[in-house]
Amino acid sequence: MHTIDELLATNRAFAASLPVGHLDVRPRRRLAIVTCMDSRLDVFAALGLRFGDAHVLRNAGGAVTDDVIRSLAVSQRRLGTRDVMLIQHTDCGMSALTDDGFRAELQAATGVAPSFAIESFTDLDMSVRQSILRVRRSPFLEHRDVVRGFVYDVDTHLLREVEVDERATGSGLR
Ligand code: ZN
Repeated sequence: MHTIDELLATNRAFAASLPVGHLDVRPRRRLAIVTCMDSRLDVFAALGLRFGDAHVLRNAGGAVTDDVIRSLAVSQRRLGTRDVMLIQHTDCGMSALTDDGFRAELQAATGVAPSFAIESFTDLDMSVRQSILRVRRSPFLEHRDVVRGFVYDVDTHLLREVEVDERATGSGLR
């Protein structure tokens, strides 16, 4: 059986194990989480979240891109979330490539240079700090007072908070 067919069979058992029910579209904990697509990070299990608790936005690296800001704007302005939690992690695939190198690879393979930023990084903590600042400084977001960033250790499963000193980053903006 192909992988997706296996998943469909699992879904039928999953659905059968639960009562039919409807939850509010607005996340109960008024929380949005931005994190990496990494397969070792089970966000709901690692944080004790349940259906209906939070929005989880995932991409390569957990980067705060324009599209993540788009989702956060909808999340906050239409669906009532307030707190933003940013989670990157150890051993991330995005630290194993460079923006220039991957861009050149795509261009060599396809003849087209991508218009998007690759968002690779070498310093994990610095990348988390940048993400925090991108959220705090986005004019499109209503709630920027609780924006916290973390590194998840994929081996120990523990979160470590990354602090931002706004004074050291050239602006007093929150
Ligand atoms: Zn990753």
